[in-house]
Amino acid sequence: MKPEPIDLQEQYPCPRCKRGNLHAIILTEAFGCDRCQQIFGLSEDNQTIEQLSTSYPYTKTWQWVAEGWRSKDHGLSGNYLPLVLGALAIPLFMTFWLPRYFQLPPGPGVILWITLTFLLMTLPSLMLWLVLRDSR
Ligand SMILES: [Zn+2]
Repeated sequence: MKPEPIDLQEQYPCPRCKRGNLHAIILTEAFGCDRCQQIFGLSEDNQTIEQLSTSYPYTKTWQWVAEGWRSKDHGLSGNYLPLVLGALAIPLFMTFWLPRYFQLPPGPGVILWITLTFLLMTLPSLMLWLVLRDSR
């Protein structure tokens, strides 16, 4: 299915909150949502709208396809999954392999060390996961 051009005179549902309506902002090439107050800029070819926000490391864009918004970032999100899995697998590997390598005797100290290492190393991947989950 081909994306249809987006018309500033038309009214569209909000791709972000799904409940609000987008209204063209006067004298700009942008839409504003009447519910979540998000601003969406229209691309020059009128094919995509882009969320104008600084709270995410990348911008989210949508195309209007068959009376509904289609996110253009699906492929990008898919590419992040192996990265997140890898970020989780490395600390897991380090946590269980390192104590054996150094032949640390089992005991409360080792368990504490494992827990601390695991928490410190999973924190970045957890944050990445939160950012990605929130942007869907
Ligand atoms: Zn909205």
